[in-house]
Amino acid sequence: MLIHTPTMEIKGHRCRVQVKVDVHPAAPVSLPDTLWFNLPASVADGLDLDNATPFLLALLLPAMYLNQPLHTPGWYSEELSESLPVVQTIFSGWSNMLKPVPILAGKGVRAMKRVNEGMVGSCFSAGVDSFYTLRQYLHHPSPAFRISHALFALIGPPFHHSLPQPYEEAVQRMSPMLQKLGVTLLDIRSNVYDFCHPLQLSWTMVHGLITAATIHFMGHSFQKFFIPSSYSFHNLFPWGSHPLTDPLLSTEITRIIHHAFHLPRTEKTVAIADWPPIWQHLNVCLYRPEGTLNCGQCSKCIRTILTLACTPHLGQFKTFPLQNNSLGETTLAIAPEQWQNLIKDEHSASFFQEVLHLAQTSNHSQVAQWVTMLLERYRCLING
Ligand SMILES: [Zn+2]
Repeated sequence: MLIHTPTMEIKGHRCRVQVKVDVHPAAPVSLPDTLWFNLPASVADGLDLDNATPFLLALLLPAMYLNQPLHTPGWYSEELSESLPVVQTIFSGWSNMLKPVPILAGKGVRAMKRVNEGMVGSCFSAGVDSFYTLRQYLHHPSPAFRISHALFALIGPPFHHSLPQPYEEAVQRMSPMLQKLGVTLLDIRSNVYDFCHPLQLSWTMVHGLITAATIHFMGHSFQKFFIPSSYSFHNLFPWGSHPLTDPLLSTEITRIIHHAFHLPRTEKTVAIADWPPIWQHLNVCLYRPEGTLNCGQCSKCIRTILTLACTPHLGQFKTFPLQNNSLGETTLAIAPEQWQNLIKDEHSASFFQEVLHLAQTSNHSQVAQWVTMLLERYRCLING
C-alpha cells in the first residue's frame, strides 16, 4: 500500500489534507483512492506534509488486513517506529485476519521535537466516560493536565461524512455547552472509515488507531490527549481503544493517555451525576432516537438510568424519557420480549453486575431487585 505525499488546502477557518493511496495488488473490494481529513486551520497550522505519521496510523489495519507493506515517501515518528511492531503483534494476536507488515518510509524515522508548550485535549462524545475525564481535568491546577479542547470527530459510526446532518446537529448542541466550560470543540472529519468498512474491519477494532491518527494531525498543538476508557480493567477484551495499545500510539511530542480504566462505569456515573452540564447533554444511547438523546429502553440507557437511580440526581436528567423524571414502573415498563435484549452476553451482564453491586452497597433495594431479576432472566436464558 503506497501513501503518496499529501497536499493541503486552507479555506477560511478549515484545512483539508488529502493523500492519494495506491493498493497493490488491488483489494478484493473497492476502496477509495484518496484519504482526506478536514480539520480546523488553527490546529493544523505548522503541519509538516512530509510527516506521514497520521496517515500510517490511519491505514495500518487495512494494510495488515491486506497483508501489504505500508510505503510512504515521507518520514514518521521514531518513537512509533519502536512501538508499532508491538501494536501490530497485539492486533494480529486479537484477529488472525491481521498480519504484521513492514512500514517503509523514504525519509526514515525522526525524533519529533516540541516547539511550544502544547495544549491538552480529550476525546468527547457526551457519554459517561468522556464527561468523567473532562470533569477530572477541566480545572486541574497544572496546565500540563488541564483540558482545553474536546475532540468530537466525524470519522466513523454512528456518523458518516456523506450524511453529516446528525453530526452537525450534535456539534451545534455540544459546542455552546463546552464553550461555557472554557473548552473548544474540535470538529474534524474524514473518509478514513471508507478504507475499513469494505474490508469488514469493524469500528470496534479500528477506532483506536483512527482516533490516534486524528490526534496526530494536531500533534504540534497538543502535548497530551486523553482517550476516555470504555471498559475497566476487570472487563478487558480485544477492542480498538485499549489500555495496552493506546499509550503505544503516543509520539515524542503527544502523549496519549487511556484514561480511567481503573474504574467501573458505575463509579464514573456516580462521580458526574451532580454536575449540571450533563443533565441536559448526557448521551449514552446507541440508537440516538429523533427528538431525544436517549431512547430509555436499550441496554445502555437502562443500566445508566438504574445507576443514576442510586444517586439523588436522576430527576435532574432531561435526556431520558422518564415518567415524571423519576424511576417508576413506567420507566421499566418494557415489553417482555425486550427483556432478553437488555443482557445478551457475559460482557453486558458484567455491566449489570456492577450496577447490582452499587445498588446493594448504596442500599437501593428496588434497583437491586430489578437488576437481580434481569440477571436471573439472562442466566435462565443461557442455561436453557
Ligand atoms: Zn437507548
